[in-house]
Amino acid sequence: MTPEGIIEVALATHNMDKVGEIRAILEPGGDIRLLSPEELPAWEEVAETGATIEENAQIKALSVAKVLGRLTLADDTALEVEALDGAPGVYSSRYAGPEASYADNCRKLLAEMEGVAEGMRGARFRTAVVAAVPDEVLFTVEGSLEGVIATESRGESGFGYDPMFLLPQTGKTLAEISPQEKNAISHRFKAFSSAAKKLRELAEKGEI
Ligand code: IMP
Repeated sequence: MTPEGIIEVALATHNMDKVGEIRAILEPGGDIRLLSPEELPAWEEVAETGATIEENAQIKALSVAKVLGRLTLADDTALEVEALDGAPGVYSSRYAGPEASYADNCRKLLAEMEGVAEGMRGARFRTAVVAAVPDEVLFTVEGSLEGVIATESRGESGFGYDPMFLLPQTGKTLAEISPQEKNAISHRFKAFSSAAKKLRELAEKGEI
């Protein structure tokens, strides 16, 4: 916490799109500031070797907090498809192989879901967010978004599996709604909103 009462946090990512999206969730209250990668010493990307998204977020948060010597948040996201027993899950970014593009992953998902009946296509995005200081995990929170896997890829907006993820309430995929609409309901929005609440509670108790 700064003398002005601002909670300053680092984010364990080099992805500037992610920094922008998460800044829009954490900063509107004026009491939390997300430090940009340019304001911080350089750190190496951390291998995601955990068996769950919670473990991966923990590994990233702790290791970057150690390098930077400061409070750090890290996140990890999975798409969990019921008909595929939770796959692609923790392997969401590399579902179609280690170098897979978003389009490759969507094509594989479409193929795996071929013939799965309409009522059996339920899925969710789940994001875990971990806050850590150099030697300790402070908390883990999560957020999720329920949906249905589409029978074809639709829409140009967003990234990853967005063109395959139907919101049953609207009949649109996440790639067919605006970034603002997605960011107001997303798994990441819910997880980082919970993280902001937890950070404020810890600051109030004088623990960060
Ligand atoms: P990450 O942990 O945020 O890097 O997410 C892991 C993988 O999940 C990404 O490579 C994407 O394929 C997928 N993913 C994460 N968030 C989203 C989202 O909001 N929409 C679509 N796909 C996502």
